[in-house]
Amino acid sequence: MTNRTLAIIKPDAVKKMLTGKIIDRILKGGFAIIHMKQIHLTKKQAEGFYAIHRDKPFYNDLVAFMSSAPCIVLVLKKENAVDELRKVIGATNPDLADEGTIRKDFADNIQNNAIHGSDSNENAIKEIAFFFSTSEIL
Ligand code: ATP
Ligand code: MG
Repeated sequence: MTNRTLAIIKPDAVKKMLTGKIIDRILKGGFAIIHMKQIHLTKKQAEGFYAIHRDKPFYNDLVAFMSSAPCIVLVLKKENAVDELRKVIGATNPDLADEGTIRKDFADNIQNNAIHGSDSNENAIKEIAFFFSTSEIL
């Protein structure tokens, strides 16, 4: 489905009580929330979710961070959802993110960067299935 994407409000933002502010940005960006839940990822789940980065030098720290505390997982709907959400999120490194983006305003650094967004339609479908069962999606 090209109109859906997956977002994760990451542990740094949840701990800083920024969930409401970030959801407000998402809604103001024109997204509908289809599903949402809080989950404390196990180390195994974090490893699986970010498996694509397993050879990167930051992988172990990223997995430890993502499994350090609860996060909020959301399925979002909008026309061209993947690209639209990444515009609202901003660049990976908050120092390089555009003004008014979530990462510019709420991220601490390149790792603790407040939110995840799927990077392609193909990955959005995989990531939604990673967190939500078919019966929840339908
Ligand atoms: P995400 O996949 O979380 O939406 P992204 O697509 O902007 O972020 P990726 O390159 O997929 O960026 O990296 C995944 C995550 O790994 C980043 O969001 C960040 O938390 C962490 N990360 C990426 N690059 C670095 C780095 N150089 N140092 C530390 N952590 C990093
Ligand atoms: Mg990514």
